[in-house]
Amino acid sequence: MKINKLLKALAVLTIGTLLMGMMVGCGKQYIVMGTNAEFEPFEYREGTEIVGFDVEIAEAVAEKLGKELKIEDMEFDSLIAQLNAGRLDFVASGMTIKPAREKQVDFSDSYFTSKQVIIVKEENEDIKVGEDLKGKSVGVQLGTTGEEYISEEEDVECIPFNKGTLAVMDLVNGKIDAVVIDEEPAKRMVAAQKGLKVLEAPFVEEKYAIAVKKGDVELKEAIDETLAELQSSGKYDEMYAKYFAE
Ligand code: GLN
Repeated sequence: MKINKLLKALAVLTIGTLLMGMMVGCGKQYIVMGTNAEFEPFEYREGTEIVGFDVEIAEAVAEKLGKELKIEDMEFDSLIAQLNAGRLDFVASGMTIKPAREKQVDFSDSYFTSKQVIIVKEENEDIKVGEDLKGKSVGVQLGTTGEEYISEEEDVECIPFNKGTLAVMDLVNGKIDAVVIDEEPAKRMVAAQKGLKVLEAPFVEEKYAIAVKKGDVELKEAIDETLAELQSSGKYDEMYAKYFAE
């Protein structure tokens, strides 16, 4: 019967459309983290793989959401723009909570406290405290809090680099006098490179957090819950011991 055929065709069409709709709806089975994998031990490469403290937190967030984690590695300076352009779901990159950034993104609860330090050559006797940077050339990483602090200092020449490691190379080669960068990566860089030392700088404490798009309450809450669970389960302490043991 004609009408029967028509109904069958309609049914097939309807089911097909529904299925396709479901596939599109559930299409995004992954969640995208943006980072700058040059920041050991928070995010760095081990072979081709990106690993680190932030990556483990991000894995836990993905697991909570039942999604797979995809990592996009890019310059630190472009992370917020890429997040707001919709190419990333969140940024986990040792990012410090700053008022200027809070205008552009929403931050999760903080998961780590850090500060900036000064790296100089081991034999350097000129530079002992932050004040001594006057009249010196100081390498920083573009778009970071270190750049912000040093560029605000009078009589200090602020030289931004795309990567912290490039700043350290120039320090080793005598092209600049010091590097100002976050404490933990500084310790790793100095350990990996002979002839350098880390000085405590008189900079304020910084709180790292994960950034989401403004208004992405759902993801922010999932991240905050994940952080709380990592704390209460003892997993955070395990991770801390793994990455920050002296
Ligand atoms: N904590 C610093 C900042 O947020 C540096 C972060 C980084 O270089 N990955 O600016």
